[in-house]
Amino acid sequence: MRGLAPATRKRMHELPLSCAACGFPVPEVVVIGGLRRTACPSCHHSQRIDVEPFDYQGFAMGGPGRTPERLSAQAGFVTPHLADGARALEIGCAAGDLAQELRRRKTFALYHGVEFSPARDMAATRMDRVFTRPLQDLLASGEIEAGGYDLVLSSHCLEHLSVPSDVVAAMAQAMTPDALLFLETPNRSGHARLPFDDNRSHIHFFGVSSLTRLLARHGLETIAAETGARHDARYSDSLRVLARRPAPLRADPTLLSSHPRLAGVDRIVVWGAGRMVEEMLAYYLDPARIAFFVDKDAAKQGGVRLGAPVRAPEALEAGADWTVLINSLEFEAPIRAEIETRFGGRVDRIVAIAELLE
Ligand SMILES: [Zn+2]
Repeated sequence: MRGLAPATRKRMHELPLSCAACGFPVPEVVVIGGLRRTACPSCHHSQRIDVEPFDYQGFAMGGPGRTPERLSAQAGFVTPHLADGARALEIGCAAGDLAQELRRRKTFALYHGVEFSPARDMAATRMDRVFTRPLQDLLASGEIEAGGYDLVLSSHCLEHLSVPSDVVAAMAQAMTPDALLFLETPNRSGHARLPFDDNRSHIHFFGVSSLTRLLARHGLETIAAETGARHDARYSDSLRVLARRPAPLRADPTLLSSHPRLAGVDRIVVWGAGRMVEEMLAYYLDPARIAFFVDKDAAKQGGVRLGAPVRAPEALEAGADWTVLINSLEFEAPIRAEIETRFGGRVDRIVAIAELLE
């Protein structure tokens, strides 16, 4: 009879028609601990079919994941991509530890949270406002404004939710067009040496492919991902991602020419009229700043690149105080040596394309 006990408590669900992460039809089924879960052959996502009820109201979230090292690592993952003055919304903010750590490093115009557990009382002292209802409800009622947040965060929350796709859709709705989304979940089992996780409060088991594909279905591109992020001893392999809507593929002719190494230089001589002219300079270097190109290849001399003439290196002798941009990665060192040896008296500054890309 003891073997029947879990079955009397668990909720038997229908087999999902498609994978909750990638949408692949007819996932396979595996049984662990007497409970069924899916195994998606396409993205390797797994979802519980049989779910035991879990009391979140009486469950204090946070606990072991609140070490300074972990909070520092999470904040360090997010802040390089974040401007000051952001409006943030954290789903499942627990006691507000991450909010507190982020606020130490960046200024925020506002920081809101959503938390159902009693930890919300502590969170309310660290944030501007803490909501206690699901994000979908808050958006529907207008309490949370669609498109109102520059940063949406959720750490170790998505795996607990029945339909994470609905929550990701709501998160995307809350985001401004160029907002960032930060998510952290266990990576597969959450532990590199454990093949599976049977935490009864976890309904979804994400991996790199399933989480990024779920986000992609909602128009979000993963721009940074990290595995092996330590939550605690049990979940020492967590998965962190940053995602946003794909930026338009737009050339910016000032991107390289605005580099401090080229500050105050009106007329740049570009050494090297090869492939990188079309592949790199054409998009990211202001052609009005180019005086002329030089190239040792006689076949290129006499031609025109980006509206500027291509000359032999001896053209450097007809002038002084030149700034020469070495337009080569592979031959940077020999070109630099040749400029110094042959034209050292004529050249004021040598800048390598690699420096502009740093
Ligand atoms: Zn899938």
